[in-house]
Amino acid sequence: MRKRWISLLVTALLIAGVLTPASPAMAAPTFRVPFPCGQTWSGQTRSGHSPAYAIDFNRTDDAGDPVVASAPGTVDVVTNLGNTSYGKYVRINHGGGYTTYYAHLSGFNVSVGQTVGYGKVIGWVGSTGGSTGPHLHYEQRLNGSDIQVRFNGGLALYWGTKNYTSGNGCSSGAGSGTVDTSGTPLTVRSGPGTGYAAVGTVADGTKVTIACQTSGTSVTGTYGTSTIWDRIGGGRFIADAYVYTGYDGYIPNVPRC
Ligand SMILES: [Zn+2]
Repeated sequence: MRKRWISLLVTALLIAGVLTPASPAMAAPTFRVPFPCGQTWSGQTRSGHSPAYAIDFNRTDDAGDPVVASAPGTVDVVTNLGNTSYGKYVRINHGGGYTTYYAHLSGFNVSVGQTVGYGKVIGWVGSTGGSTGPHLHYEQRLNGSDIQVRFNGGLALYWGTKNYTSGNGCSSGAGSGTVDTSGTPLTVRSGPGTGYAAVGTVADGTKVTIACQTSGTSVTGTYGTSTIWDRIGGGRFIADAYVYTGYDGYIPNVPRC
């Protein structure tokens, strides 16, 4: 969390019924370019594409290049449709109704049920199915319908061709923060909520490393009211309302737990 006066203003507006809080469960994942960190790929959208909002990615000599998960999730489809449609493709379920599709792969590096994080290699660029040359066909869907692709929250180019540079898996993705309780030790819970067991405390002023963030019970703290909880270790969660992270809400490069 960041500036307490902003949080207090938002809280006041919420109480006044001026704003409706977005449900964290419905928040879109932070998707990243589906290639390893630092690579630049040309992504093409076109209105005649099926489905319309898919992106076809290419770069020079791209056959066999690794394709990576664009957000954390669970692999729920790994299949081969033969010489039609997607050919060999992978689908990842990101929760909240969001899925991503990676099609025309030459091979697979994951299996159904596998949990993947940012940057995990899921397969390799190919030309299987109804493809006339090596490329990655990529989609983002919500509740089964294709949606306009976003990377790091920014809308892809519709319609046309644009270079996208990957920031996917560039680091551990961990964030950091400082506990601010005005003196009282902050209770550490075994899960993201006040109903979970207390498993320790962290002192006011402690710098913490945040491995991932998730939503849990609502807590009102130094930086206003928030349902965000920060995982600071295995089975160790603290309420983000008491942590200065530099951001109001989720930290952009930190994954969801
Ligand atoms: Zn395509």
